[in-house]
Amino acid sequence: MKRILVTGGAGFVGSNLCKRLLEEKNNYVIALDNFFTGRRVNIEPLLESDRFEFVEHDIVNSIDIKVDEIYNLACPASPPHYQKSPTYTTKTCVLGVMNMLDLATKNDAKIMQFSTSEVYGDPKVHPQVEGYRGNVNPIGIRSCYDEGKRVGETLCFDYNREFGTKIKVIRIFNTYGPNMDPKDGRVVSNMIIQALRGDDITIYGDGSQTRSFCYVDDLVEGIIRMMSSRDDFLGPVNLGNPGEFTIKELSNIILEMIDTKSKVVNKPLPSDDPTQRKPDISLAGKELNGWKPTVELRQGLANTIEYFKGYVV
Ligand code: NAD
Ligand code: UDP
Repeated sequence: MKRILVTGGAGFVGSNLCKRLLEEKNNYVIALDNFFTGRRVNIEPLLESDRFEFVEHDIVNSIDIKVDEIYNLACPASPPHYQKSPTYTTKTCVLGVMNMLDLATKNDAKIMQFSTSEVYGDPKVHPQVEGYRGNVNPIGIRSCYDEGKRVGETLCFDYNREFGTKIKVIRIFNTYGPNMDPKDGRVVSNMIIQALRGDDITIYGDGSQTRSFCYVDDLVEGIIRMMSSRDDFLGPVNLGNPGEFTIKELSNIILEMIDTKSKVVNKPLPSDDPTQRKPDISLAGKELNGWKPTVELRQGLANTIEYFKGYVV
């Protein structure tokens, strides 16, 4: 039995990943989380499996368990959450990542670090390729997360060079789908919940900024392929959907899909909000057996809307 640790396992992506890993009968999955943004409801169905266990723990503190593989997701990902406790976010990105790299090194386990498109900041190269080094403000309100994730990548590569730790680094672009927290604050969850409730749909700024939205099942497929990719492919590799939409277009699609009396209102654009984002996924295609997203935005949104209906009565 392969012992797999998923930190951040009670979160949105982590719980979807645990579910997928449990489909493989040879996997024993240990989800670890401190419920900073994660929710027990996401892991409750998984607790029925005798190959699943949950550990409540904060990765800022070290832990000693026997593992063969680590997926390190633990970190708040939504801007309102990471900006509420910025120094704690940095601690999680630095001390937390070091603790997980120490655990991987001690166990001779492979560790995958969940990095982000945010390492490109407000990108001057479009679409973003892995070789682009980014345009990040080191002192802004997003920096705790952006710079935290950048140093997380640095730590992975330094552990690999200094201690021979087996690493894999992925850079995820905006992902959405079931198990998102309705109060998460990211654009897809906000707009769907607002439309289902008939509340105002909030567009920050004029809505001309772009994002690329990946359905969670497509991301999880890429994650699994990356973990089993050839040993000397360490990444970083972009995982995301190259379809690019303005935030205004996203709001129009959601308004087409949900029968609602909601109206669009514009709110101030938060500082350092990236103006454009779209992954170049040719490296993932080449290294991960032709991986590419298969779920169209409207299909993924339809599944997500069905999920969120359970939260709106
Ligand atoms: P999420 O907030 O739903 O999940 C993060 C999980 O980590 C939560 O369950 C939270 O409680 C847990 N956590 C946070 N700090 C912790 C700590 N110190 N110790 C233990 N647990 C801790 O977010 P998500 O969208 O599922 O993101 C998962 C990972 O993927 C994050 O590392 C994030 O940076 C990365 N990522 C996500 C996206 C996306 O669009 N969803 C994009 C880029 C990168
Ligand atoms: N956004 C918005 N309305 C919302 C939430 C977010 O217009 O209710 C915008 C936000 O300013 C950003 C984009 O949507 O330009 C994506 O925001 P999100 O928080 O989902 O993730 P980001 O990519 O900024 O980390």
